[in-house]
Amino acid sequence: MENDRVATCGRPWRMLAGLLLACLSFAAVAAPRSVELSPDSGTVALAPHVRYYHDVAGDLGADAVWTRVEADALGPLPDGNGAFGFQSGAFWFHVRVVNRDPAQTRWLLVQEYPLSDQVDVHVRRADGYTSVLAGGDHRPFSARSIRYRHPNFALDLPVDVPVDLLVRVESQSSMQVPLQLYTPAAFTEVSRDAQFAIGLYYGILLALFFYNLVLWLWLHDASYFWYLCHITAFGLVLFTLNGLGFEYLWPASPWLADHMVPISICLALIAMLQFSRTFLELPRRWPAGNRLLQALIAFFVLLGIASFWLPLRISTPLASRAVLIGVVGIVIATVVVLRRGYTPAKLLLLAWSAFLLGTAVFTLLAFGLLPKVFLTEYGVQIGSALEMLLLSIALGHRYAALRNENQRIVAETNQRLERKVAQRTQEVRSALLRLEDAHARLRDSSRRDGLTGLYNRAWFQEAFAALSEQARAAGTPLALMMIDLDHFKAINDRHGHFAGDDCLRWAAHRIGRTLRPHDALLARFGGEEFVAALPGEDLDGAVAIAERIRRALNEEPCVSGDLRIHVTASIGVHVMAAAHGERIEVAFAVADRALYVAKANGRDCVEVAA
Ligand code: GH3
Ligand code: MG
Ligand code: MG
Repeated sequence: MENDRVATCGRPWRMLAGLLLACLSFAAVAAPRSVELSPDSGTVALAPHVRYYHDVAGDLGADAVWTRVEADALGPLPDGNGAFGFQSGAFWFHVRVVNRDPAQTRWLLVQEYPLSDQVDVHVRRADGYTSVLAGGDHRPFSARSIRYRHPNFALDLPVDVPVDLLVRVESQSSMQVPLQLYTPAAFTEVSRDAQFAIGLYYGILLALFFYNLVLWLWLHDASYFWYLCHITAFGLVLFTLNGLGFEYLWPASPWLADHMVPISICLALIAMLQFSRTFLELPRRWPAGNRLLQALIAFFVLLGIASFWLPLRISTPLASRAVLIGVVGIVIATVVVLRRGYTPAKLLLLAWSAFLLGTAVFTLLAFGLLPKVFLTEYGVQIGSALEMLLLSIALGHRYAALRNENQRIVAETNQRLERKVAQRTQEVRSALLRLEDAHARLRDSSRRDGLTGLYNRAWFQEAFAALSEQARAAGTPLALMMIDLDHFKAINDRHGHFAGDDCLRWAAHRIGRTLRPHDALLARFGGEEFVAALPGEDLDGAVAIAERIRRALNEEPCVSGDLRIHVTASIGVHVMAAAHGERIEVAFAVADRALYVAKANGRDCVEVAA
């Protein structure tokens, strides 16, 4: 991630040229150790030809080092590689170049690592000309020969004149000195490709940023907020590492140019961890994992704050290595939550995998295990762009999943509610039925006589009015019968009132049983007197039925305790002339008269009114 070299062999012919040049330079090392710049070498990597000296105290002057150069006291780069990690003091690099291209005297020396603090180029020509050029991110950006993210120095290299280049680099950042020489045309070509790749990358990041910003403003989901923080901070990390931060954001601040690396890494990881916590709903789904991520966040917060004061050689590698721990923590949390059945975590896992794969590919490239092609060189950018794209998709997917879950819950709640309402309705309905029943019984009991259970007089009169109306309308007869128990007072007097009650109940039962086949209306008229209405019965029929009643009472005695009480009744019968408009009161009076006749005739008999 820290190395940021630009592709030098984008086209096959250029690769061939590089190979040719490598052979040439091998020969050169053996003899005069100078780099020949032939007409077809547009780009020259200086690393194989460079010899270096580490001035640990960093206090040597250029003259002292020139003396060492002349004494051939400088050594070749270890493994031909200009990367030394974090070092104290200054590094001196020497190379002698001879320009053999008469058409090209203007060259560009580029230090293809943007974070070096101070890069001084001492030029000494065989014709006696000397000059010193200064660069690095502790010098103003405007001092650069070309406004470009890598320190660069324009050199005049006259034809066939050997030129000694002595480059002094001092930096708090990692000591990486991949020096390249370009013709202006070759540099334009190479930087064009690199700028395009970088532009593409930040274009994707910006599009994702604004897309998700709109979604966040719309949905107010915390995951979107942390995603925005993550994408911003991660963009800032690469912006810093690419040298674009110094170029565009803080061209006058060497402090920021240095410290932004660990600080932005910490910010990116804090946002990434927070995003994962909210996205995975860790506090609810895996509390232990939530605590783990919170601990990691606390670590990055502390490291980020400490980075303001810590030397870079401590804070930067610490932050870079902790990135791996952070990402592994997130991957573990994602896998655990996924295994617990939270499917939106799938895309998240894919996103982290893309990021890790991109980083791994870049690392393998750095170790020389993979060839340097677009895909490997920009592995981190491609991986992280894919990661952020997948995260954005995951957010959408998660939102849809949450919405579905909500809809399911609402539907379930509705169903439960409906069931409850139906149950309550049923309860209310049955209560109503019970109430209705009670009401009916109450109404019925108000119509009945408490002792015998027969209808009472009031109800009888009401019902009889309806019957007489029907009889009148239909032109059918309606018989009326008055039944009075004989000498009942004497029964009461002889056997007591309770026995009298028993006799009343017994007589009511017997009369009712006899009338049952005749669809008659029977009531207790009062005291020991009963009344019956027989719709459709003419006088003969009514008299016959009255006779059956009389006999039914006569047949056997009423049993009350140990007593056997003989009960008889006198019955007066009348058939109402309803069709001729006979009034009810008249009918009752006639029937009563018939009863009176029966009493007069010696009781226990049936009489018809004259
Ligand atoms: P008659 O043959 O002329 O009808 O003589 P009676 O004694 O039956 O007629 P009366 O009208 O003189 O007497 C009716 C008696 O019926 C008087 C009353 O004590 C009795 N009685 C009326 N209602 C009840 C009742 O609910 N329970 C009892 N045990 N006796 C009742
Ligand atoms: Mg009587
Ligand atoms: Mg009576």
